[in-house]
Amino acid sequence: AEMRVAVVGAGVSGLTATKCCLEEGLEPTCFEQSQDIGGLWRYTEHIEAGRPSLYPSVISNSSKEMSAFSDFPYPEDFPVFLPNARVLDYLRRYTERFGLREHIAFGTTVVSVRKRPDFATTGQWDVVTEADGKKTSHIFDAVMVCSGNFSEPSLPLHCFPGIERFQGQYFHSRQYKHPDMFQGKRVLMVGMGNSGVDIAVEASRVAAKVLLPGHPRGAWVLSRVFDHGYPWDMVFNTRLMSLIRNSLPGPLSRGLINYRVNQQFKHENYGIQPEKRYFLPVLNDDLPSYILTGRITIKPGVKEFKENSVVFHNCPEEEPIDIVVFCTGYNVSFPFLEEELVKVENKHASLYKYVFPTHLQRPTLAVLGLIKPLGAIMPVTEMQARWVTRVFKGLCQLPPQSVMEKEVNKKKKNQVQRFGLSFDEVLKTEWLVYMDKLASFIGAKPSVLGLLCRDPWLALTIFFGPCTPYQYRLGGPGRWEGARQAILTQWDRTLKPTRTRVPARSSS
Ligand code: FAD
Repeated sequence: AEMRVAVVGAGVSGLTATKCCLEEGLEPTCFEQSQDIGGLWRYTEHIEAGRPSLYPSVISNSSKEMSAFSDFPYPEDFPVFLPNARVLDYLRRYTERFGLREHIAFGTTVVSVRKRPDFATTGQWDVVTEADGKKTSHIFDAVMVCSGNFSEPSLPLHCFPGIERFQGQYFHSRQYKHPDMFQGKRVLMVGMGNSGVDIAVEASRVAAKVLLPGHPRGAWVLSRVFDHGYPWDMVFNTRLMSLIRNSLPGPLSRGLINYRVNQQFKHENYGIQPEKRYFLPVLNDDLPSYILTGRITIKPGVKEFKENSVVFHNCPEEEPIDIVVFCTGYNVSFPFLEEELVKVENKHASLYKYVFPTHLQRPTLAVLGLIKPLGAIMPVTEMQARWVTRVFKGLCQLPPQSVMEKEVNKKKKNQVQRFGLSFDEVLKTEWLVYMDKLASFIGAKPSVLGLLCRDPWLALTIFFGPCTPYQYRLGGPGRWEGARQAILTQWDRTLKPTRTRVPARSSS
């Protein structure tokens, strides 16, 4: 009989998980608590419904070619960086194209996932779902957890002395809806991650002033628009660049990145130079110019709050403020799982390759999308799903428990506490390296050398060009006929939406 798989959530991860199950001949049932697909890419609908938004920015951080599922390129007329509605549109087309909708149970929340008594032999799970207040129990052979990691806001108020006597307004970035609320106000953003910087930029268009304490360890601010105006990820995530970064000795490699990132603007002059071994990338096109034009002021860390003001470290005078937005991120949590199943400490879950719990007798539960590489998530969760379905089927084996645990613990030690990742950690979970690793597990990693004789032009494009996800459909299970063509036309689709005016005398 076909293996029955429960997929929790119908966001990016859940959709591709469902598709990969079908591809491998498994029988998926995808449970989605809301009434529609798309997960957090559907957030403007949340705003219209008057519910809190998850995030202010409406543009993707990764370019469309790098963000595509590996056998389904974005339409060529879509912009290079995507407004969320376009991503949602794309996800709807994907759902349609691969007939996923009939496998999704909408308005159905997974409330508990428990091992069955005979788990050691069957690997089966008791899954309880709830719809319209009614609970139903199911038995599944395997579970793919795709519930996302932006649901439980992290609000560490105890780190901010005096916040209890602050008379102004304060809230978590998740509660933020619209910049109008900042009109004429003095605003403080706490947390210099992507949301902190994005909200600061939005607020500064209407606020009286915007203060942004730099991250204690600094940050790298990358612009979507990179060298010569190309999308950052299509320049950064090439096989050549990845090879250079990973073959150079640590200090040289850091020096190189340091040099490249400072080419856009010298971080030191803006007070956000990162500490030595630290790498916290923030993607924003506007921050440098907003600092130069005085709309955003970078500050030292917050020391304490007073009734109507804030005091910064090493600053004698207090700054009057009206609103504080805590952009302090999210906690990883899986309310429907037993705690011992996926242990989360310091925002780090003990999962082998960020996917499999290390201590299960049978590898029949996997977590998708719980990784933050410097690159698009969509192809990563898709690759995870391709690997996971083959592990479920027994076609790929996991290493022994002790080996997996050793690797997970090493990763954990490397991770700087609480915020961000250490530099070395990011290199290790580098987008391309991670993709190649999982691809090699399932036999879908492209061989540049092998291709060099058979198809030299393709080999060169793969090596020197952006590592677009289609590279992982050239061979192996799930091979896609269109992959070669998609790779050779990746720049056409990138340039099409910007070359909207072709000068009359231009011949090509
Ligand atoms: P989600 O999109 O969060 O989906 C989870 C789904 O599971 C939801 O539909 C939810 O309703 C459902 N669910 C949760 N719990 C249950 C339950 N118990 N029962 C049933 N259903 C449940 N990534 C990129 O690659 N490129 C980008 O440019 C990019 N930009 C981003 C911008 C913002 C503003 C944010 C916040 C994130 C961005 N990301 C980006 C990362 C983003 O997380 C991923 O792109 C992707 O949306 C993750 O999808 P997901 O399916 O894992 O999670």
